[in-house]
Amino acid sequence: MNLPEMFGENVFNDSVQKDTLPSEVYKALRATIEAGKTLDVSIAGTVASSMKKWAISKGATHYTHWFQPLTGLTAEKHDSFIEPEGDKVIMRLTGKSLIVGESDASSFPSGGSRATYLARGYTAWDPTSPAFVKEGTLYIPTVFVSYTGETLDKKSPLLRSMNALDKQAKRVLKLFGIECKKVSTTVGPEQEYFLISEEEYLRRKDLQLTGRTLFGAPVSRGQELEDHYFGVLKPAVAEFMRDLDKELWSYGIYSKTKHNEVAPAQHEMAPIFGTTNVAVDNNMLTMEIMKKVAKKHGLVCLLHEKPFEGINGSGKHNNWSMSTDKGLNLLKPGANPESNTLFKLVLAAVIKAVDDYQGLLRASVASAGNDHRLGADEAPPAIISVYLGDQLGALVDSIVKGQDYVKGKTVEGSIGVPESPIFPKDATDRNRTSPFAFTGNKFEFRMLGSQANVADANIVINTIVADAFEQFADELEGKRDIEKAANAVIAREFKAHYRIIFNLDGYGPEWEPEAASRGLLNNKNTADAVPVCYEKKNIDVYVKQGVFTKAEAVARADIRLENYIKIINIEALTMLEMAKQDIIPSVSDFVAELCQNVAAKRAVCEKIPFETEKNLITRLAELNDKTSAAVEKLESDLKAINKAEVRKASKAMAHKIVPDMDELRRLVDEMETITSSDYWPYPTYFDILYSVK
Ligand code: ADP
Ligand code: MG
Repeated sequence: MNLPEMFGENVFNDSVQKDTLPSEVYKALRATIEAGKTLDVSIAGTVASSMKKWAISKGATHYTHWFQPLTGLTAEKHDSFIEPEGDKVIMRLTGKSLIVGESDASSFPSGGSRATYLARGYTAWDPTSPAFVKEGTLYIPTVFVSYTGETLDKKSPLLRSMNALDKQAKRVLKLFGIECKKVSTTVGPEQEYFLISEEEYLRRKDLQLTGRTLFGAPVSRGQELEDHYFGVLKPAVAEFMRDLDKELWSYGIYSKTKHNEVAPAQHEMAPIFGTTNVAVDNNMLTMEIMKKVAKKHGLVCLLHEKPFEGINGSGKHNNWSMSTDKGLNLLKPGANPESNTLFKLVLAAVIKAVDDYQGLLRASVASAGNDHRLGADEAPPAIISVYLGDQLGALVDSIVKGQDYVKGKTVEGSIGVPESPIFPKDATDRNRTSPFAFTGNKFEFRMLGSQANVADANIVINTIVADAFEQFADELEGKRDIEKAANAVIAREFKAHYRIIFNLDGYGPEWEPEAASRGLLNNKNTADAVPVCYEKKNIDVYVKQGVFTKAEAVARADIRLENYIKIINIEALTMLEMAKQDIIPSVSDFVAELCQNVAAKRAVCEKIPFETEKNLITRLAELNDKTSAAVEKLESDLKAINKAEVRKASKAMAHKIVPDMDELRRLVDEMETITSSDYWPYPTYFDILYSVK
């Protein structure tokens, strides 16, 4: 494999565009992609025809408008290129079919923002994300809007938020005499996942229907030896990763790092960062390809946030920054951050934004799956805070307290052996416990769930930072001494939002009460986290930045809650089915066999002891009865909920159904540990977690 040669071979990328398009058309298209110029639609016909020709050379017979509806997944509908000519066909892609597609939108979630009889939805080409050929189809990235113009997807608000940030960031840069065509946000999402064997997967109803195990006693060897993280890859895993890389590279995805994660059977892939909307598309494609490649290897890739209890779940770190088309990273502190006023102002904007809109940020990562991670010991807590590290932390402290900034010396690392090289050390150590951490030249938002569409979190970050920039620009434009005026704003904002900065251990028991005394939000589950989205201030910021209308913002919150209710409902129903059809009868059968054993012993001689059987029979019979009672309780509580009342129902799910499910699980998991494995109806955690060799 010649990697540089095959990289991006399935993508209609810049170099293919350059080679295949007439130079005027190429220039016009690049102006749209790079400088955000409005697309000149008259070039669409030419682009479509080149795209089609190229796609056919890659074996394509179909094309699809690829979009990201509010289901959180991607959607596609394939049309072939054929057009009749006499009794033959020709292959055709018109400019119009490149630019716009019409599709029935009634079966996609819209949060009640439109009546179902108004079914028209339109997909519109997003030229900033390159088209690609996959399995005989040309994929054209698009946005999805309704006939009346409401956005029905995650890409359009993402593009709008990027646009808002671009506009306001340029105003801030201009204060400092920096002109540029475009400020883009950049994202590098690190993707965690589990790999298990397909054979075990197919024997677990819960994994197939919900993506996670709803029952399962902990395995005797979990992650406590800390030997899996960065450990040697098992051959089957290494083979999977090799294939995965090859596929990802062919789609122009910069897959860079791969390694084992903390939990057994858990792994990670990190790409090199890119412009946000392309990074989002690439991450959606990555998740799909991971599943596909796994299947080829007889494996299943689990992207759920918490497939297994008792060991770590999976997340996605969203590394975020902003940079100009000339390559200036706005979050790069430089050698002397203390005198880098632009950097300090940008930092102040981010800190202000995160503090003012912590509720929105928290809500953007809320999902039934992610509720299992946030607040447990493996992911940052449900409280939003910002980590700055020693160097910047000291700088902000000095500004807030009005003291001189004493610069920490940069230390060179060495292991104290003369032969070993001296290595430069980073300015900040890692703090894995912070939800929003500054890591050198970017912020890392660590609360995202592994199966999330990262657009959600980035829509919020871009919007709220754009808003802070706008306020700063409004205040500072026209000031004679920008340095002085900006430094006054910086000091004021650092002071005003000092409470959001937390440089210590976010997992420690001291943090929760400390955060409460600072007045920070601590919304532990989706039902409690999402309602902030209905607050006026949190809607206004979207409206002001042109990202969502009020109706759209409300619809999105409704959809998030609806989705939560549906997922918990499916999980509860699956649990009930498993308990009633498989678990309770299996335990009962095992108890019956134990009883027979006792009877057999007694038939031989009254004196043979049978304490073991008796105790086991008693315990299991008790537990099985309690399980039946827990089943009944869950069933009746579930029936009592009116799922149409979204806000009320979501609260009931979180505060009634989830605890019911936990109780049912506790009973079943205990039975699993004392039931003969011959009788247990499902593969155990051991069978699943150690299934890949
Ligand atoms: P670390 O190892 O400290 O997490 P890395 O440099 O390995 O840092 O980066 C982790 C992720 O952050 C990678 O996906 C990387 O591409 C991404 N990243 C690096 N710089 C930026 C940036 N300016 N904007 C967005 N993401 C970035
Ligand atoms: Mg990371």
